[in-house]
Amino acid sequence: MHNAGDSVTRAWRDLRSGEFAMADKQPIYLDYNATTPCDPRVLEAMGPYFSKEFGNPASRTHAYGWRSDEAVEVARVQVAELIGARPREVIFTSGATESNNLALFGAAHASATRRRHIVVCASEHKSVLDPCRELEREGYPVTRISVRQSGGIDMEALRDAIRPRTLLLSVMHANNEIGVFQPLEEIGSLAHAHGVLLHTDAAQSVGKVPVDVGRLGVDLLSLSGHKLYGPKGVGVLYVRDRRPRIELRPLLHGGGHERGLRSGTLPVPLCVGLGRACEIAGGEMEAEALRVRALRDRLWGQLQEGLEGIWLNGDPEDRLPGNLNVRFSGVEASALLLSLPDVAMSTGSACTSARPEPSHVLREIGLRHEESLASIRIGIGRFTTPAEIDRAAGRMIEEVQRLRALSPAWESRRRRDRTLAHRVRNPG
Ligand code: PMP
Repeated sequence: MHNAGDSVTRAWRDLRSGEFAMADKQPIYLDYNATTPCDPRVLEAMGPYFSKEFGNPASRTHAYGWRSDEAVEVARVQVAELIGARPREVIFTSGATESNNLALFGAAHASATRRRHIVVCASEHKSVLDPCRELEREGYPVTRISVRQSGGIDMEALRDAIRPRTLLLSVMHANNEIGVFQPLEEIGSLAHAHGVLLHTDAAQSVGKVPVDVGRLGVDLLSLSGHKLYGPKGVGVLYVRDRRPRIELRPLLHGGGHERGLRSGTLPVPLCVGLGRACEIAGGEMEAEALRVRALRDRLWGQLQEGLEGIWLNGDPEDRLPGNLNVRFSGVEASALLLSLPDVAMSTGSACTSARPEPSHVLREIGLRHEESLASIRIGIGRFTTPAEIDRAAGRMIEEVQRLRALSPAWESRRRRDRTLAHRVRNPG
């Protein structure tokens, strides 16, 4: 006989050692920007709230309700601690998509002043860009600020875009495709100097790098459970409560849960899971970031050693520790991924990869159409092992070489480059 705790511990150990992947013939998972596996410790914390502790946290008249409410409030404190917020500033949602929608529509629709102008970064996630397009249809003027080749926002253009009627800036913390950070502290000072609200989509950065709402100067911040080893279907919108207190119009109307900002019975197990995930991240983030970064650098080093004609998209340093976005000249990313069923990676963000068009982020940093189509996103995380990195690097090198050998264009270009190099070395 073994109990649930034992099997959780075993699953955790197997995941860490990579045996799980090998034994089950699962592909090596290198898509941590799309989603992260739920940490077994998170799963363990959630367990009782799917069975014994099923109370509705809004039930005030019995112990079932009280205990569920207590669990949600513990989770709220755990989330707040990770981002330097007060617990009452943490509003549970269904994920970062909803948080972004609530921040943008909520702030726009609540604006009682003549401030209606919204400024966003052009490389934002679709869950920011699409609500902005909708708001534009409703008559809110929207300015999109381009990014530089590094992926960093054009600060000069951002400064120039702010007008007396600007209501809100929305700039993501770290990009989901190229992992590049935006200078939020600087943007926060700029926003506040003009009395403009600052929203940030921090779905990719919370739990991976330190995030402090006070230090960054943000008024609204979105995060998502499944990006930080928590469950899917839960997220948070941080809403500043003091200096200034942010007014939002809710998207959902009903029981008035979450201080009236998000009606609907709280998914207690998911809130508990997100809280525990935040607690784990707070304790382990520093060591984990170092470990993940070392794995990433190891992979990049091996790829560079094994292949010519590869490039890194986005700033090489100022990016998430676990992210690479790599371009392989002469190889179509979709063909490469098809020939690598044993390594799970993606061509762009998972949310847009259903559409065949190249990524708007890669276009924004100045990549040509065929360069975007030659790019893959690699996400390394908590359960990635050095053995997996070495195997993935070996397989990528093998397949890129194989595909290039099949491509007459690549061969002729390589021959031309070699001839040119020869002529430069031996002029005349
Ligand atoms: N913003 C960013 C930057 C993301 O990476 C994602 C997930 N792809 C989202 C928002 C949406 O998050 P969720 O899946 O929780 O709705």
